[in-house]
Amino acid sequence: MRRTSAVLLIIGALNSLWAGAAAAPPAVSEVRLYALDCGHASFTDMGFFSDTGEYAGQSGAIADPCFLIRHPKGTLLWDTGLGDKLAANPAGLDPEPGVHLSVPVTLVGQLAALGLTPADVTYVAFSHFHFDHTGNANLFGASNWIVNKAELAAALGPNPPSAVDPALISAYKTAKTRQIDGDLDVFGDGSVTILKAPGHTPGHQVLELKLAKAGVVVLSGDLYHQRRSRAERLVPPFNSSRADTLASMDRIERIVKNTHARFVIQHDAADFAALPKFPAYLD
Ligand SMILES: [Zn+2]
Repeated sequence: MRRTSAVLLIIGALNSLWAGAAAAPPAVSEVRLYALDCGHASFTDMGFFSDTGEYAGQSGAIADPCFLIRHPKGTLLWDTGLGDKLAANPAGLDPEPGVHLSVPVTLVGQLAALGLTPADVTYVAFSHFHFDHTGNANLFGASNWIVNKAELAAALGPNPPSAVDPALISAYKTAKTRQIDGDLDVFGDGSVTILKAPGHTPGHQVLELKLAKAGVVVLSGDLYHQRRSRAERLVPPFNSSRADTLASMDRIERIVKNTHARFVIQHDAADFAALPKFPAYLD
């Protein structure tokens, strides 16, 4: 009798171990927004952030976050940062004179802190394909990719936009990829919506979240790079279309106003610092 109990205990323990190993990540009952540190960049001259000279000769720094949205029906990663490979250089590196990049903590490490692996990320989507938003993209080959059709076509075309490296997104070929050319309600309940906002790149987009307590939050992508860029509607010279950029600013600002949204400029270090510090989240 005792022996049977011991055997049952062992089987029970093995079963829980197995269940633990194979378990899906713990579900959430509400939508949560986590802001992850996916790198930093600094410049001795920020002049290239405006084609009308406002930043000329000024030094400055930008944040390069990733955002993890946990929803009862799955997980969405919005943008993938500079890339965990850069974390191998603790002091960061200078890819060219006057530009310094650093990744003090890895995306994979931050996911692990939530009990997640890249394979647990249901969807990955991008504001756009510039290298500082796609650095870790290929870690998510097991996820469903949601990509803007025009953005992908431009990246794969004969002249990819500057700052786009098609090799950084090569996993799209084998991932389950859904191409969109407009807005998309990701989970079908209106809580997480990709909004088309072209101009920075041909398929640039922003992300709107409807959170139970925090209300509407809009993540800017690169619609603006700094708070000053928003206040003064500054357009970088490297944008694919100045006219489309201004039209997208009009559209998104109206949505922000009408929904009383909190607008987060992804590259603005102060906006990033104002978000709950990981692993805290907005809900
Ligand atoms: Zn960009």
